[in-house]
Amino acid sequence: MSQILHSASVKKLITKGLKAECKALKEKNIFPQLKVVLVGSDPASLIYTANKKKYCEKIGALCEIVALDEHISESDFLKTITQINEDQLVDGCIVQLPLPKQLSHLDVGSLVKKEKDVDGFHPENLYALMSNHLGPKNFISCTPKGILTLMQESQIEISGKHVVIVGRSMIVGKPLAMLLTNNNATVTLCHSHTKNLREITKNCDILISAIGKAQFIDETYISPDKNQVIIDVGMNTDTQGQLCGDVHYAKVENLVSAITPVPGGVGPMTIVSLAQNLLQASKNRLSL
Ligand code: NDP
Repeated sequence: MSQILHSASVKKLITKGLKAECKALKEKNIFPQLKVVLVGSDPASLIYTANKKKYCEKIGALCEIVALDEHISESDFLKTITQINEDQLVDGCIVQLPLPKQLSHLDVGSLVKKEKDVDGFHPENLYALMSNHLGPKNFISCTPKGILTLMQESQIEISGKHVVIVGRSMIVGKPLAMLLTNNNATVTLCHSHTKNLREITKNCDILISAIGKAQFIDETYISPDKNQVIIDVGMNTDTQGQLCGDVHYAKVENLVSAITPVPGGVGPMTIVSLAQNLLQASKNRLSL
């Protein structure tokens, strides 16, 4: 029987702590506040931003979705970000991706100032992660941070393990590779040009998939005799229109020692990490 790495109990425990932290901050007249900049009305982005707002409010933080017109000019968009950067009552800001065409060339990671960069995309935060010099004033990208938390809370050993990550995006694969390397894993980062992917995934201890292809990882990528741990980051829709991961859960579940479900695995941890980062930013205000 494999261990199913549900995030619900981990989330519940962390949420309790975050509520208490938020209350304590408010007693010191710090009201944690997040701004989520949303341009246009991409259906998935509307759901993601609504979920972020709902969770922030659940822990007692303020969250405003700054909804901007899909055709907003670059200068008006930048003006909005500058206003948020300068607003002393705002602790964190994230820009929901993807951005429309006229803004897609912008280096989003550098727009939000590093003290408010609760998405962990700012070059200084990325450098701190890369050099393993993370301090309380640095933020780690939310999905990698959430994956690490889920693994640690589920007693999945990381040190000395061979981790294969499939997917090299700036929001998941690359920062996750750094984070797990910092935690003493030996990391192989794969992508669409990787040759013999199956040979690589079959030989690892922990396989993390962040590809964005429904049920791509099936039993042919797994070694049943290796007690592998599978972390599925993917959020896709299957042929029936249902939410599913990158991993073919039914075909893989009984061949591995542990596996995250979709939904109910990595997804909720991303939002929890965002709230953790927000409260960290609020606490940093106290020591400014
Ligand atoms: P991207 O599209 O930015 O990156 C996908 C990566 O997968 C790329 O590096 C690409 O390689 C690689 N890839 C694509 N096809 C293959 C293949 N056949 N073999 C090997 N590698 C392949 O995706 P994201 O990182 O933004 O997201 C990945 C998935 O994770 C999506 O389903 C997304 O919805 C989900 N996601 C979930 C989150 C959560 O909270 N649960 C948060 C963020 C994302 P190459 O670089 O060569 O093109």
